[in-house]
Amino acid sequence: MSETVLQYSTSPVNPTTTRPATFAELLTAVRSLAKSVSAVHAPSVDKEARFPHESLQALKGVGALSAAVPRELGGLGCSMRELAQLCSAVSGACGSSGMVLAMHYIQIACLARHGAGTPFFDNYLRDLVRHQWLIASMTSEVGTFGETRTSICAVQRDGDFFTLDKDATTGSYCGHADAILVTCRRDAEAPASDQVLVLVRKQDYKITQTTTWDTMGMRGTCSPGFKLESRGPVEQIVPGSYADSSAQSMVPYSHILWAALWWGIAADAFGKAAAFVRQGARKSAGTIPANAGRLAEASMELQAQRHNWLTLANEFDAIDSRPGGRQDFLSMGWALKMNHLKISASEATPKAVHSALQIIGILAYKNDSPYSLGRHYRDALSGALMISNDRIAAKSASMLMVLKDD
Ligand SMILES: Cc1cc2nc3c(=O)[nH]c(=O)nc-3n(C[C@H](O)[C@H](O)[C@H](O)COP(=O)(O)OP(=O)(O)OC[C@H]3O[C@@H](n4cnc5c(N)ncnc54)[C@H](O)[C@@H]3O)c2cc1C
Repeated sequence: MSETVLQYSTSPVNPTTTRPATFAELLTAVRSLAKSVSAVHAPSVDKEARFPHESLQALKGVGALSAAVPRELGGLGCSMRELAQLCSAVSGACGSSGMVLAMHYIQIACLARHGAGTPFFDNYLRDLVRHQWLIASMTSEVGTFGETRTSICAVQRDGDFFTLDKDATTGSYCGHADAILVTCRRDAEAPASDQVLVLVRKQDYKITQTTTWDTMGMRGTCSPGFKLESRGPVEQIVPGSYADSSAQSMVPYSHILWAALWWGIAADAFGKAAAFVRQGARKSAGTIPANAGRLAEASMELQAQRHNWLTLANEFDAIDSRPGGRQDFLSMGWALKMNHLKISASEATPKAVHSALQIIGILAYKNDSPYSLGRHYRDALSGALMISNDRIAAKSASMLMVLKDD
């Protein structure tokens, strides 16, 4: 295809607007905007494969984009459990909006947890709170075949500045973001697995779209391939190695928040099924509709799926709040828990939507019905591919060969 240099279109946010000051207030505001804004625009976002501008603008308006920024830097300092609830609240209304929010939180977690204490990243995160900047990520790369823990591109230092070019296969909402967090080799001599994270701000880069994004689902994430050309100050290279930031932050935040948002999609599908069955029950008072049994079964599956991500979010928060606890995230046992969660959640979600489809029947199969589940189904199918489940399962299998239970 012909390459297009993107024009950016991020909207400014009024920093003087009163924003929720507690997580409870924020969750209420996010639930409300999910219903009144995200759900309303979800069909056109999906149909036109366009960025969910309305949702993101509403989320910025209530300060949701800085929920993951630590309190000392002006954010709400939300825990994993809290961020997961925010993502699932949005994804039930619009899967793409929920995914954008989750991916943004993942990038903030990496910056706050591994860049914290350096003047550049502290100031950057303070400014992000004010401006509600949106951060995208580029981990995938042409030639690494979906393996996020290797890079071909390398950051090149030249005095106080770096240059970094990358040919990414998939870059969600990169054309709509204020910054991108990029994985690359530490320098031109480093092996493929010796990676670092580099933050490139809008003023530091040019991106050129190289492929299209006409997908089955998650169409509003707008995730085609991009060529990145960037130059910026070396302070924007996140301290430490990506091996650590991946295990301690990128992977747990990705897998727990994704599991929560996929559950949100399943829960919304279940809600439609429940409404459909109750409507049937009202029509024939005194009898239990035939599909109520399936509904009870679906409710049970949904509960198990919810407990899976909630338990691991709680466990993450408990470990993380212990002095030195973050080291535990480097263990094989924790890595396996994350792998198991990602695979089971991404497999359970399409099954849950399928159950809802069976319960509702033809009205769920139709695209123009209030019970339609086409978008839920298609969005849910992306989970198994977002870092291939087979790739993750192969890593789990090799870990299990050497893991010693304690
Ligand atoms: C909605 C969505 C949004 C995304 N957003 C971003 C983003 O913002 N930034 C970004 O960098 N990336 C993003 N990605 C890319 C994503 O994270 C993966 O890197 C990409 O989808 C993997 O592509 P692949 O399936 O071709 O690669 P692969 O992982 O190479 O898989 C290709 C095939 O090989 C098989 N396979 C691979 N390894 C093994 C193995 N060990 N054993 C058995 N079979 C194996 C797989 O099962 C699959 O069939 C996004 C993807 C999706 C779906």
